[in-house]
Amino acid sequence: MSTRFVINGTAAARGMTLGRARLVQPSQFTIDERPLAESEVETEVVRLREALAHASEELRQLRGKLRGALAREVGEFIDAHSMILEDPELTSGLYSLIRQGRFRAGAALKAQRDRLVAVFEAIDDPYLRSRREDVDHVIGRVQAALGRDTTPAERQIASRVGTVLVSDAIAPAELAHLTEHGVLGVVTTSGSPLSHSAILARSMRLPMIVGAHEALQRVTDEDLLLLDGTRGEIVVHPTAQDLARYRQYQREQVRSTEALSRLKHERTLTADGIEIHLYANAEMLVDVAQARAYGAVGIGLYRTEFLFLQRRELPDEEEQFVVYRDLVLSMGGAPVTIRTLDLGADKADSTGLALAQESNPALGVRGVRLSMRRPDLFATQLRAILRASAFGPVRILVPMITTIEEIAAVRALTEQCARDLHSGGYEIADHFELGAMIEVPAAAIALPGMIRHLDFVAIGTNDLTQYTLAADRNNDALGTLYDPLHPAVLKLLAQIINVSARAGKVVTLCGEMAGETRYTALLLALGLTGFSMHPSSLLEVRQAIAACSWQKLRKLGAPLLRAQTRAGIERMLERMR
Ligand code: PEP
Ligand code: MG
Repeated sequence: MSTRFVINGTAAARGMTLGRARLVQPSQFTIDERPLAESEVETEVVRLREALAHASEELRQLRGKLRGALAREVGEFIDAHSMILEDPELTSGLYSLIRQGRFRAGAALKAQRDRLVAVFEAIDDPYLRSRREDVDHVIGRVQAALGRDTTPAERQIASRVGTVLVSDAIAPAELAHLTEHGVLGVVTTSGSPLSHSAILARSMRLPMIVGAHEALQRVTDEDLLLLDGTRGEIVVHPTAQDLARYRQYQREQVRSTEALSRLKHERTLTADGIEIHLYANAEMLVDVAQARAYGAVGIGLYRTEFLFLQRRELPDEEEQFVVYRDLVLSMGGAPVTIRTLDLGADKADSTGLALAQESNPALGVRGVRLSMRRPDLFATQLRAILRASAFGPVRILVPMITTIEEIAAVRALTEQCARDLHSGGYEIADHFELGAMIEVPAAAIALPGMIRHLDFVAIGTNDLTQYTLAADRNNDALGTLYDPLHPAVLKLLAQIINVSARAGKVVTLCGEMAGETRYTALLLALGLTGFSMHPSSLLEVRQAIAACSWQKLRKLGAPLLRAQTRAGIERMLERMR
């Protein structure tokens, strides 16, 4: 009988899902080394036989699901694994270890693995030697089947649902492929909700929990998991009661979507009638459809790097142009802010463009720094964006701006691209708007001098917080230190909003805090009138804004900035309710 238990982590992408666990890093199996009693031998032989049969069946099913190029490439490995699994030398060796050596099945597998690995290690041919990994995979699969602790009823449910990936960490590029492979949710033992993987998971509507430290030790392949990405909770071997909660959640989802959907086409106004502009962040075209449906006034941040992450070759000008043009067309005349490449840091790419070996990548060649090192590729992207500007209003947003010189260099390159396009006979808008992500503290502090070089400003609180507090946004070990409510971050936010407003420049905040209703009143108190967020948050934030009085909140802005401690800031938040 499998026993229910709960593993806690940090909520990273909301939603509940039910799925079978798929461990990316198989756990270290604890091997029971105690010798078998005579009476236990035959039961152990049966356990092993069933586990072997199960592993073979898994491989057969996996093989059957592969199509096209994948069938050729991956199929070969699966065939090799099946052969190892059916190799009589392996199996008879295992049975005799149990019968004669009184090994338990797990210990017998480990002993056979160690023996085979030693044989492979002794081979001179590097290719053959590398095949020892296959042995590890195969033995790992059988170990997983042996360690499985599921009831027949659970297995029946599990066979009908998709999988939940359990891994130590996951890169954005890997995540991008998951849904195509039937993955319904993700659990990682490390990471934070501010990582780019988490942002992408939210965009893909893939429930995700990060920092679930025990997950790889306590979950076994194929366990049935109920993942609650809103609470940050993983229920292993859920009971009938849990499943009822899941069904209840599904019903509530329908209801709250209906309630909020009444707000879809409303303007966004505070209770005292001040208009607030809600834009959407987008990584993919589905986000754009939702942005329109929920009445966003435009796209405040289109992260282009996700176009670059899922592939080996860089997208050329034509391919990028088509994507940007379709984006502009789908927004039907509303402004679209396209951010130039922000590769580097945790968004290392598969194209090899970002530098692979940097000891401190978040402080390294990231964003505009990388683009300026490759003006040829940067020009390709700028040309594609400028060409899209013929189809509707486009703003060009540059990430990681630190100096005025960088802005000037990007402007000069963009002007050059515009001239080349004109003389090449391309249609482009008469005028382009160039803005900066203000996410490096130096840019926030130096903004009074920088603002006249910019047409608009976008505040990147995800990075501004990490760089101001010297706290890695991906490192869950830092706990509450990464805090956008730190007085220093709030002071910088107030400064950016005030400087931009005084200069008459559009300013929006497009970090994750824009979409969290617990920060809505605080941001209004600081004078923010432009928010850009994942489209799924638009209606809730619109509802939260409607409950706020602009007049009252603005009066609380100054005392908020005087608060020195977290407790003091919490008290101010209370007064804003
Ligand atoms: C930010 O830093 O706040 C931001 C919006 O950009 P990204 O999360 O892509 O770094
Ligand atoms: Mg950023």
